[in-house]
Amino acid sequence: MADLFGKIKKGIDKGIHVASQKSGELVETGKLQSQIISLKNDKKSSINELGKLTYEMLKSDSFELEVLEEKFKEILEIEKEIEQKEEAKKNVDQKETGETEEVEAETVEMSTCPKCGAENPADAMFCGKCGTKLGEEAEEAEETE
Ligand SMILES: [Zn+2]
Repeated sequence: MADLFGKIKKGIDKGIHVASQKSGELVETGKLQSQIISLKNDKKSSINELGKLTYEMLKSDSFELEVLEEKFKEILEIEKEIEQKEEAKKNVDQKETGETEEVEAETVEMSTCPKCGAENPADAMFCGKCGTKLGEEAEEAEETE
């Protein structure tokens, strides 16, 4: 098991050497992901141990809350670490997808000038081409009615 993990790690290290800067972030995500998985395994086995400890104590009738609390704290520490890694991974993911989101937003939020037909940002006050005040179509329509 430990051997297998070592092999995977070696593979990732090799990947960094040939990876460009962009895929470097992908490697970072993969690294975080494998760290999260191993932390989750740690958490699982710690919870198992906590259960076993509780069982042994109840069975032998020598209940030691301090020992259990120690184990419980250990689990909370692992949980905190998992949260931090997942947060870091989310940040890397956002960096990777952020560019495409921006482009989409630009293409969606455009409005056409009623006078010259030029494309303007939806929140623009005046047309960038002819200077017509934008967003007054409704008023003009009311006047002609
Ligand atoms: Zn215009």
